[in-house]
Amino acid sequence: MYWQPEIETLPRPELESLQLQRLRGLVERLAATVPAYRAKLTHAGVSAADLHSLDDARRLPFTANADLHEHYPDGFLAIPRAQVARLHTSSGTTGKPKALFFSRQDVDQAAELIARCLLMTGCVAGDVLQNMMTYGLFTGALVMHYGAEKAGLLVIPAGPGNSERQLLLMRDFRTTVFHTTPTYALYLADVVEKQGLDPRQDLALRKGFIGAEAHSEETRAKIESAFGIEAYNSYGLSEMNGPGVAFECVHKQGMHVWEDQYLLEIVDPVTGEPLPEGTAGELVLTTLNREAMPLLRYRTRDITRVLPGPCACGRTHRRIARITGRTDDMLVVRGVNIYPQQIERVLMGITELGRNYLILLQGLDDMIVKVELSPANFDGQVDRLVKLQNRVTERLRAETQVRPRVELVAPGSLPVSEGKAKRVLDQRTL
Ligand code: ADP
Ligand code: ZN
Repeated sequence: MYWQPEIETLPRPELESLQLQRLRGLVERLAATVPAYRAKLTHAGVSAADLHSLDDARRLPFTANADLHEHYPDGFLAIPRAQVARLHTSSGTTGKPKALFFSRQDVDQAAELIARCLLMTGCVAGDVLQNMMTYGLFTGALVMHYGAEKAGLLVIPAGPGNSERQLLLMRDFRTTVFHTTPTYALYLADVVEKQGLDPRQDLALRKGFIGAEAHSEETRAKIESAFGIEAYNSYGLSEMNGPGVAFECVHKQGMHVWEDQYLLEIVDPVTGEPLPEGTAGELVLTTLNREAMPLLRYRTRDITRVLPGPCACGRTHRRIARITGRTDDMLVVRGVNIYPQQIERVLMGITELGRNYLILLQGLDDMIVKVELSPANFDGQVDRLVKLQNRVTERLRAETQVRPRVELVAPGSLPVSEGKAKRVLDQRTL
């Protein structure tokens, strides 16, 4: 099922010429309306007339996180203040927040993209979506909310936390889809287990939209089996509207990026040079159709690659692989580069382990990994635990090249956050 079939299946040559036309219009408009971009474009010596093909996009200046801070609060606003309909901020996982403005048309366009995503996963009018993301300045909840309403779903604006109430709502209103972070999905799975619920019998859930945080296939598998659902990876960032930038279709082989709205590039995170198609690097996105705050070549810092070939669903918009990490998430432990997601993948692949973990960096350069046991394995049998502990240590060493100290802890004993999880505590005295 398609929401906008003509656009979603637009043949690539037409899609690309639409992109080029939009890109030219965008550059022209930015030069005229946003002094910060006028300066950047002048400095790069490039104007709309220089864009003869999409390859020429590489001549355009990047926009970095630091630019948004420098021009905070409204230096990148491209329309008069009186035409702004909504303000969001980024959740500020890294540093102070960034302000993001939406015109009325931007609000509507973001909702259209979500509607495309929902139909792409097989949602239909009549589905009940329980939105467990944080409502407020964060884009995650509101953008999904508007899109799901547009697609004809019944939306329950539950917000995060209060798991007992979440389950009550799910039961009483026959929720068929939930939208949440991987962290909260795993936490809720524990609560379901503790309450002795059988989601396949007691709940009407069929799908989960899992986003806002990097997570592995192993985590997806855990979420799917705990709830008896299909879980779809949902990628977005506030700077690009929030959710709805890239989403999996029913085939779950990478996330389609809506290329009529976003120009997608993969660059070398160090040099900024474009990489050959299929090579992993930093995702760079340009908003092609946004009014209030268009961004040129925004450095997302997220690492991914473009997947080859067309998708069986018939959509022509290219797919990106699961995000493997964020350039600024990388840890350097004893001179070795480690992404927290490598650790997550190992832990979530070991069935005796539970669903929550914490990475502590302490002392001179020690890595301690605390991980909860699964409730079924928490019977205090020390011998078995020593074996398990050794196995976890060895797997982590093989994956990261650093031998951590592994501590197995009781189910439910590690802190849980309502929004994005804080998985790494760096307390090193280096
Ligand atoms: P902040 O940058 O402050 O965390 P956002 O809420 O805009 O604010 O978060 C966007 C970031 O969240 C993305 O750049 C990416 O790192 C991460 N993210 C969002 N969705 C996913 C996903 N499905 N997989 C991996 N990472 C994701
Ligand atoms: Zn597809």
